[in-house]
Amino acid sequence: MDKKQSEALPPEVSLPRLLRLRQVLQDRGLDGAFISQPENRRYLSGFTGSSGWLVILEKEAWLITDFRYWEQARQEAPHFELVRLVDRMDQLMTKLAERLGERRIGFESTHITVDEHQRWMAGDGPVTWVPEKNLVEPLRAVKDEGEIERIRRAAALTDEALAYGLSQVHPGMTEEDLAWVMERYMREHGAEGVAFEFIIAGGPKGALPHAHPGPDPLPTGQPIVIDMGACVDGYRSDMTRTVCLGEPEDPDTFWTVYNTVLSAQEAAIAQIRPGMSGSEADALARDVIARAGYGDAFGHSLGHGVGLAIHEAPRLGRLSEDRLEPGMVITVEPGIYLPEWGGVRIEDLAVVREDGLEILSHASKDPILSGDW
Ligand code: ZN
Ligand code: ZN
Repeated sequence: MDKKQSEALPPEVSLPRLLRLRQVLQDRGLDGAFISQPENRRYLSGFTGSSGWLVILEKEAWLITDFRYWEQARQEAPHFELVRLVDRMDQLMTKLAERLGERRIGFESTHITVDEHQRWMAGDGPVTWVPEKNLVEPLRAVKDEGEIERIRRAAALTDEALAYGLSQVHPGMTEEDLAWVMERYMREHGAEGVAFEFIIAGGPKGALPHAHPGPDPLPTGQPIVIDMGACVDGYRSDMTRTVCLGEPEDPDTFWTVYNTVLSAQEAAIAQIRPGMSGSEADALARDVIARAGYGDAFGHSLGHGVGLAIHEAPRLGRLSEDRLEPGMVITVEPGIYLPEWGGVRIEDLAVVREDGLEILSHASKDPILSGDW
């Protein structure tokens, strides 16, 4: 059971989500959906337990879970009919197949394992199971104001945790120490956890965009990439800052790279609008970096959606055809990575609004931390 007091997802939030899913089902010629992906399950039902399945039909919505979660499921997902799982999952699938009758039910093909699939499909019954992708994910991409509020709180806590962490940096402090100081701050100030394992990468390690904090002391005079986020009421935040303890050893490269990344980010933030594709948004930053001669050193996408999951729709990348819409929450995170030197990435979290981006990350972008290093 989650430690937190269980809270129901109000009907004015849950029912429109079910309605939108039913429209998707109708468009795809399906009579129902079998939802197993955890964030999709939570989004539709409000159920936060770690084990359970949803069946959404034209007029019914079932939540299947085992005895550990019955009370929690009843409280959190009051408009779902609770189906108590007492048998093994494959036995349940046989019973479900009978109860569903001659319906075509979409299941989340990117989520279940080959093994589960074989065992389920072995069950007899008139139901037809149809593999489907992106049944719920596109619905999750556009957030309501309640979701944005949770993300805003997670982002504010991330700003605060970074400021606190940087105020505690002292000579010899390791990447791991700094990660823990910031994680503890988040947990002590209302986060249920971190949004993902932080990335803290000093010096040449920063050239690996996903390096994890290690026992190395934070270097002085070199870029340190800090990528972090909090989880508040299930919703995540994501922010990166690059800092330098004292003046950079190699000021020419440092400032050229830092200012190029910052200009690329500012260009994207100023120009992203709803209606653009993910690739058009990506190009706004990528062109700035390419013009400065670092095109090959920006090897990842400009950004991604954030919500119940740290990476979700839409994608902002060279090949993305996703269309930006008001209410989407995205990151804008250009970077330049030079092997043996290090990396600079600057990432803000933002809401797509009718007239452009509303930025949720407010931590300083002045990279130099003065002190006695
Ligand atoms: Zn990040
Ligand atoms: Zn990110």
